Amino acid sequence: MVREDSFIGIDLGGTQLRVAAIDAAGRILDRRAAPVDRAGGVRAVIGQMEALIAKVRRPDTAVVGIGVPGAFDPGQGLVLDIPALAGWTAIPLATEIEARTGLPTVLENDAKVAALGEWRFGAGRGIADFAYLTISTGIGGAFVVGDRLVRGFRGLAGEVGHTRITDRSAPCSCGHEGCWEAVASGTALARAARMAVDRQPRSRLAALAGEAPATGEDVTRAAREGCPVALTLLREEAAWLAAGLVNVQHAFSPERVVLGGGVSQALDLMLADIREAMRRRLLPGHEVPDIASSKLGDDAGLIGAAVHAKESR
Ligand SMILES: [Zn+2]
Repeated sequence: MVREDSFIGIDLGGTQLRVAAIDAAGRILDRRAAPVDRAGGVRAVIGQMEALIAKVRRPDTAVVGIGVPGAFDPGQGLVLDIPALAGWTAIPLATEIEARTGLPTVLENDAKVAALGEWRFGAGRGIADFAYLTISTGIGGAFVVGDRLVRGFRGLAGEVGHTRITDRSAPCSCGHEGCWEAVASGTALARAARMAVDRQPRSRLAALAGEAPATGEDVTRAAREGCPVALTLLREEAAWLAAGLVNVQHAFSPERVVLGGGVSQALDLMLADIREAMRRRLLPGHEVPDIASSKLGDDAGLIGAAVHAKESR
């Protein structure tokens, strides 16, 4: 008899907790979400996970995978630190979920599970050398090299957002300066947009932002309407993205690069600039890789966490 197992993926973000059951083909069978109970702390959030698992769980559910936005110990199932959530230090999360649900539970880094989702069921399907980068609040990354997801010693591999890319004073979320994410993330784009609005208060970008601080989404929208201020911002963003992608290419040589996160929604507006800048910088004889947007979008991490659970059995 064929076993029709299902697998639960959990995407723990700084603001949203999302839980889904998927089948072996990567289809979402059921999904639930809740705002992370930040005030309630670790206990409350683990309780939220338990409650959402109970809602999506099916009789054939085999295992749970959790994408962790921070450092963890996969062997012990221990969350070591989540910068975006207070109190998450040395939390035996996998053991807790196992005790409450009776389901084997595994942890993996959030960018790595998103890459796994895209690799198995999204824009990286069938590609043996593949890079996934999420360009949002920060820059996260994960790499598949020779058909294997690269974890490295203690799982740090892929944190390319914190490779140093410029000498200019650009403070990063990690406490240092000049990191790729400090100049190329959605946060950096929004910061540049706010400064541009101050300089160009009559621009379409300023009009779209209105009274609120300009966002990366405002930039994309204004650029699509032909706003020269927004188009300049995206040209600068493309240059910073290309600078980091050239480093990625020289380090891992992916055949395809998949970009997720909010900034990737403007990829079509930046792609020609990115490709041209990369072409100029790559070693002679090498080609710019295929660069595509995420296919699973916001669900990459959710599906990927379940895929990780499935493949960890
Ligand atoms: Zn950094």
